[in-house]
Amino acid sequence: MADIIDGKIFAESLRAGIAAEVATLAFTPGLAVVLVGDDPASKVYVANKARQTVEVGMRSFEHRLPAETTQADLLALVQALNADAAVHGILVQLPLPKHLNTEAIIAAISPAKDVDGLTVTNAGLLANGLPGLVPCTPLGCILLLQDRLGDMTGLNAVVVGRSNLVGKPIAQLLLQQNCTVTIAHSKTRNLDQICKTADILIAAVGRSELIKGNWIKPGATVIDVGINRVPAAEPGKTKLVGDVAFSEAVQVAGIITPVPGGVGPMTIACLLRNALTAAKRIETTLEKELS
Ligand code: NAD
Repeated sequence: MADIIDGKIFAESLRAGIAAEVATLAFTPGLAVVLVGDDPASKVYVANKARQTVEVGMRSFEHRLPAETTQADLLALVQALNADAAVHGILVQLPLPKHLNTEAIIAAISPAKDVDGLTVTNAGLLANGLPGLVPCTPLGCILLLQDRLGDMTGLNAVVVGRSNLVGKPIAQLLLQQNCTVTIAHSKTRNLDQICKTADILIAAVGRSELIKGNWIKPGATVIDVGINRVPAAEPGKTKLVGDVAFSEAVQVAGIITPVPGGVGPMTIACLLRNALTAAKRIETTLEKELS
């Protein structure tokens, strides 16, 4: 039986460390979250983010805009937040309503305040191994892996999924850990055979229980990023499952994250960590400019 990682406990200790550091600062980091429209899942995420921001001692600025908000109005808000000295991190909750141009909105966020790590500048810094802001979920995966595995030099890592939000940044972070990285995706042939080569297997696909127990190398570390809502046994109810068939995989893997309760809780904790990182960098630069 695999060792099951408790992401909730890990995220709690990460948040406690962030709160302790925030308490020592001469300023209060501020995180702005922008929500356009009333997608129910996004509303829950934004409320959780705001609550946890305040809990670690930061200021939370919530901007809830109607679904019919124009591109120009949203851009104007992002620009105002870029210029606001009390705001050190800006997160625009995705997905945006279809009439808005997501790429243009993300591009308008100041890279120094881009706590989701989604701007081309931060993606480029990551690809070059330079310090920037790293997307929250990939950062959470790497922190869990570092905690459990320590040195990952020479391990074979397979990342299933190549999105800009998850798959690609995780692959970059694993390269920085000296892993030999393979990126698989929807067009990959013999996915099962490729997965079987992995000492570290990351599933970031969005297909419920795609990865079966017999695709996993015995003793491998399996990180399941997927969040899929499927019908539960009870009629009319739903439940969350990952991209990995957990009940099979747990018999084969050495270490595994469950869904829910694995990677998920790490995402907001890493968002707060990024907000702290951004705030410290911005304030240090300001101090230098003033001295
Ligand atoms: P995405 O749809 O942007 O990308 C999915 C990727 O999977 C694509 O690169 C695609 O090529 C690949 N893919 C699709 N079908 C495949 C198949 N049959 N075989 C192999 N590869 C296949 O999704 P995303 O934003 O990267 O998110 C992936 C999953 O992670 C989703 O379930 C999402 O809900 C979840 N997620 C979780 C968190 C979290 O906090 N835990 C955060 C972000 C995303």
